[in-house]
Amino acid sequence: MRYVSTRGNSPALDFEQVTLAGLAPDGGLYVPETWPTLSNAEIAGLAGLSYVDTAVTVMTPFVGDALTADELRDLCTRAYSRFAHAAVTPLVQLDHDQWLLELFHGPTLAFKDVALQLVGLLFERFLLGRADHLTVIGATSGDTGSAAIDALAGRAGVDVFMLHPAGRVSEVQRRQMTTVLSPNIHNIAIDGDFDDAQGLVKAMFNDPAFSGRFALSAVNSINWARLMAQVVYYFYAAVRLGAPDRPVAFAVPTGNFGNVFAGWVAAKMGLPIAKLVVATNVNDILHRALSTGDYSRGIVTQTHTPSMDIQVSSNFERLLFELGGADGRASADQMRGFEATHALRMTNRQCEGAAALFTSDRVDQHDMASAMGWASEHGGEVIDPHTGVALAAARRAGLDMPVVTLATAHPAKFRDAVERATGIRPTLPGRLGDLFQREERYATMPATLAAVSGYIAERATARV
Ligand SMILES: *Cc1c(COP(=O)(O)O)cnc(C)c1O
Repeated sequence: MRYVSTRGNSPALDFEQVTLAGLAPDGGLYVPETWPTLSNAEIAGLAGLSYVDTAVTVMTPFVGDALTADELRDLCTRAYSRFAHAAVTPLVQLDHDQWLLELFHGPTLAFKDVALQLVGLLFERFLLGRADHLTVIGATSGDTGSAAIDALAGRAGVDVFMLHPAGRVSEVQRRQMTTVLSPNIHNIAIDGDFDDAQGLVKAMFNDPAFSGRFALSAVNSINWARLMAQVVYYFYAAVRLGAPDRPVAFAVPTGNFGNVFAGWVAAKMGLPIAKLVVATNVNDILHRALSTGDYSRGIVTQTHTPSMDIQVSSNFERLLFELGGADGRASADQMRGFEATHALRMTNRQCEGAAALFTSDRVDQHDMASAMGWASEHGGEVIDPHTGVALAAARRAGLDMPVVTLATAHPAKFRDAVERATGIRPTLPGRLGDLFQREERYATMPATLAAVSGYIAERATARV
């Protein structure tokens, strides 16, 4: 399988190269050159398979010959053995037609574990094979950092430097990062906010000398291997609800459009998904884009669903490219216009293509809290605020079929908001029970490029 850039002006890569790459050199995102499909008979054949066997079947065409079948199965087995539920992503029924797909049973209680646990192993496998080394640098406001750190701790060939804004992540989130004491993990608390941290990371990537010397890499949601690993649970859930003979819908709490784009991929591969409900909070750029064709940046408002508090959805470029006829030149023009003006008008073709599969909704704090209350009182399930946003959208979408809401975080990660909405204070699961007793290690420094890049240069492995 070959991967091409959405901006049409970068060399095609194989799976190994695309896993280790971030953005394409032309600024685009990588997508498969052609989309593999599974026949109805093959989809029916997934019924009853374990999560790992489903993952191997769904991912094999994307991996190509970068790994043998045994290697892929071995990596999936190791990645998903760290989940606390035997089903990895169990499906829970809330009422006649409403379902939850629990994606939060991984080591850091966030759905990002599902992809990152596998990506950490893929990095190690490919870097060992090349006797190469990478330096992963990231900025986090909480969830991504802890999932990436857990996935990469102790992995050969990778050093991780994770910046977080000092005093602005919750104590649980900070401790999930800073109590990982592996020598290849470096946490940096900077005196500033998340945008300052993000700005420092961008500055280091934009310095070709620094970025080349330390082979900088990122594990954010533009990474193709992360998206690929998320396609699996759409198949896993849909066959349990009767696919390919019965259609099903999914409601997805959306930020960077990675999770829901994986649903688009599943549909493209032949899974009979009737609707994908894109749920946003009041930061509603995606709802505006999908309902009116106006993809234009607003001001970020802070909410109880921080992982959705964004105004640019990086993976949306992949959808625009696909719906625009996979024309790299047109896509590059459209995205350059967006970068210059912070606004983009979708073409008629893109709007019609999107409307065939997607619907969208904007959910405010009040409706989110009511959905959380309903899940607890009527469905017997305590859910987190992100999941609450998607469930609110799922319930008012008026779909006459099973609707699966993706549950993206464990409620114990957002205890205060959950307690306010439901009166129940969730407890941290046993495997994190001693989090508050564990030793922490992190450096604190001013939000200056000199301080942060100097710290990294002293500790990272330079290329010879
Ligand atoms: C990252 C995240 C999201 C958003 O997922 P995208 O792939 O960025 O759309 C939603 N909920 C939670 C809890 C997350 O951590």
